[in-house]
Amino acid sequence: MPLPKAELHLHIEGTLEPELAFALAGRNGVELPFADADALRHAYLFKDLQSFLDLYYGLMTVLRTEDDFADLVDAYLERAAAQGVRHAEIFFDPQAHTARGVTIGTVVEGLARSLDRAEERYGVSTRLIMCFLRDQPAGSALATLEAAKPYLHRITGVGLDSAEAGHPPSKFRAVYDAAAALGLRRVAHAGEEGPPAYITEALDVLGVERIDHGLRCMEDAELVARLARERIPLTLCPLSNVRLRAVDVLEDHPLARMMAAGLMCTVNSDDPAYFGGYVGDTFHAVHEALGLGDEQLRELARNSFLASFLDDDEERRARYLAEVEEYEFEHAR
Ligand SMILES: [Zn+2]
Repeated sequence: MPLPKAELHLHIEGTLEPELAFALAGRNGVELPFADADALRHAYLFKDLQSFLDLYYGLMTVLRTEDDFADLVDAYLERAAAQGVRHAEIFFDPQAHTARGVTIGTVVEGLARSLDRAEERYGVSTRLIMCFLRDQPAGSALATLEAAKPYLHRITGVGLDSAEAGHPPSKFRAVYDAAAALGLRRVAHAGEEGPPAYITEALDVLGVERIDHGLRCMEDAELVARLARERIPLTLCPLSNVRLRAVDVLEDHPLARMMAAGLMCTVNSDDPAYFGGYVGDTFHAVHEALGLGDEQLRELARNSFLASFLDDDEERRARYLAEVEEYEFEHAR
């Protein structure tokens, strides 16, 4: 049995495996510029952020109907559950779909159809977090929040993702204020490729409760001290950092140093179909590459539940935390 854990940084569009991409393309009559799933899998070995984003947005054209989004979530949950995920807070990018004529209603209803049966089918509790694309105008984010209003009962919080450099958190102050007024939880990607100052801005201007990535905080000792003191959770994605060249090799990843500095770290898979592994694979990889021991892995799992938005279900959180404490590391991680 794998270590029980929550996944808090997972883009559902980043779980599209080549086989499913081809199945959906066939169903929807979409022509993909690859001979078959193997050829596409080879293209997943991109060399930098831009080649990843090109492929990532290009492949989304196969996602058209509610069924497609439901199938995407089912495929993720099945894999995640097999790797010990008990709770998943799933990001989605409405603008990546509405921009090509798929309505936000299709996206949310499709995702929700799978999420509604996730507990029964996969034993995974879920939350949905709607992300704004930070390389799009702030007005587009505001319009997206407005369009999401009929579906807010499905949505726990908002996030901010896509290309970070040159798009500081403060650009999205208005939409985060509006989201807060609607009772939505707030997270944001910061300090992945952007500077440590973006982390501070996300906390102070956007009022976020968690920082997605945040590894560049290590360049600012005062910021590290603050994050540790305030117990701000960081949703780190070590395999993603290697693939997108934030670090050269996993052995260079600052995760162990961040934990030693008292930071509240979690590990997550980000876009697992593209970055070489789901969250259980990630736990295994950091154990191997960084030498994290059993109790450090337990700390990461404990943090994942503590940092989750289970505040409306503390009984469940306590149950998950008890599973983590009772876990015995004799077998596979
Ligand atoms: Zn991400």
